[in-house]
Amino acid sequence: MQGKQLPKWNEIPPGGAILEPGNSVKRPTGDWRTFRPIIDKEKCVRCLLCWVYCPDAAIKIIDEPYRTASGKEWKFSVEVDYTFCKGCGICVEECPVKAIEFVEEVK
Ligand code: SF4
Ligand code: SF4
Repeated sequence: MQGKQLPKWNEIPPGGAILEPGNSVKRPTGDWRTFRPIIDKEKCVRCLLCWVYCPDAAIKIIDEPYRTASGKEWKFSVEVDYTFCKGCGICVEECPVKAIEFVEEVK
């Protein structure tokens, strides 16, 4: 918010309501992160539970085929959108095959 004028108390909508739907794209939350989820495409079974549970819609579906080292063919993969991933770790907890590593963010 540095250099940006904050609204005065009487300019804030009653109840702090957000009146502009979809405004989250203007507010990248990636710089909140202290830990970074990293998806292992080899272990991932494409169940999309991480996509379902991510509160920031920061799991992207990559529509490209992927072949694992053992020869398994997948039609798509999942990746983390680090612009919006705030590092809450929910995807790490929910992944049923532990395919997401959670590593400390290094700036
Ligand atoms: S750590 Fe949280 S915000 Fe980031 S991708 Fe996982 S669930 Fe989404
Ligand atoms: S929850 Fe785990 S296995 Fe399922 S799509 Fe996400 S990373 Fe892959």
